[in-house]
Amino acid sequence: MSERPRSFERIETNLVHAGAEHDAEGPVIQPVFQTANYLSPEADSYEDVRYLRLNNSPNHRLLHERLAVIEGAEDALVAASGMAAVTSTLLAFLESGDHLLSHRALYGGTQNFLDFDAPGLGIEHSPIDMADPSGWEAALRSTTKMIYVEGVSNPLMEVGDLEAVVEFSRAHGLVSVIDNTFLTPVNFRPAGIGIDVVLHSATKYLNGHSDIVAGAVVGSSERIAAVRRRLNHLGGSLDPHACFLLERGLKTLALRVERQNANALRLAEFLSSHPRVERVNYPGLVGDPGHERARRLFSGFGGMLSFCTTTAGQADEFLRNVHVPLHAVSLGATESLVVRPSRTSHVDVPAEERERLGITDALVRVSVGIESIDELVDDFDRALGPS
Ligand code: PLP
Repeated sequence: MSERPRSFERIETNLVHAGAEHDAEGPVIQPVFQTANYLSPEADSYEDVRYLRLNNSPNHRLLHERLAVIEGAEDALVAASGMAAVTSTLLAFLESGDHLLSHRALYGGTQNFLDFDAPGLGIEHSPIDMADPSGWEAALRSTTKMIYVEGVSNPLMEVGDLEAVVEFSRAHGLVSVIDNTFLTPVNFRPAGIGIDVVLHSATKYLNGHSDIVAGAVVGSSERIAAVRRRLNHLGGSLDPHACFLLERGLKTLALRVERQNANALRLAEFLSSHPRVERVNYPGLVGDPGHERARRLFSGFGGMLSFCTTTAGQADEFLRNVHVPLHAVSLGATESLVVRPSRTSHVDVPAEERERLGITDALVRVSVGIESIDELVDDFDRALGPS
């Protein structure tokens, strides 16, 4: 019998099979290797010492290979959470005295790290509008080492000029980093346009079932080796049982995301014609500022949207009355979730700054799940109150 390939042509197939090894009469599914250490104490480098904190169990290795294949990159690394992936990456490429350019409205945890933790480590950042390269040059310093963006930003769903990010980084010798959590490799593979490092909160779509926290970092072998060194020292390794669940979740990623893309588009269209909704942020809508760019770069617009009701009180009422989505933080799972970013992910951003950015108490973020879209639309219609 010919040898089974380790990867295939299409992402749908690779999500199920890439990197899996099958011994004669062995298991179809890789079991959980619930052991902290291995009978192979000596190695040529610290990273190869077989120990669970060093993220090199068979459960980790399978995920690393699968993620690299589906992202079209040389290597990948999983981490104990999305924030472990974000912070290990920042600290792998930045040190005291360095500066980075970062989109002005990022996921709250990342923004908090940049605002409150990084300055104490001597790392400074300047906010840029990732959709408008005209201001980037002015924000550049001689110490700038990185540009950090999100594929679709949280919670305003802005789409950056990602091709300009690549060009600008190359022209100025910066490492380009993208948090691609909202889009997933099913909708967009940033390595394909030349972004250096791709991050995910794998807690979200990659796992997809709201039952673990995990992170992932993808890039060239050299860059992943740098992040691995930092992560191994910081100690953010992913538990093997969480690896097992993440591998299981990945298998259905394409199916879930295709359904979520379709559901989110229908819901965004419905909301944008509702009289109690002032604005809908969703790059799939024809009038959205990011629509043209998203159409060109992405193969789907994603399952995340946000909308502004006419008053904060109406957002309260909606959150109280809605039945199908659960009112909870996080995103990217099978169940729809609704949340008010000003009271959750962005609660630590100063109120005036939130207001200036448009993250008001009237803004509701929706992670659209895989439920019946007819039932979701009816539920939103009822919860928004009479038109
Ligand atoms: N990046 C984005 C875009 C997120 O939305 C989140 C969490 O919500 C994170 C990173 C952090 O991920 P985790 O909660 O897995 O640490």
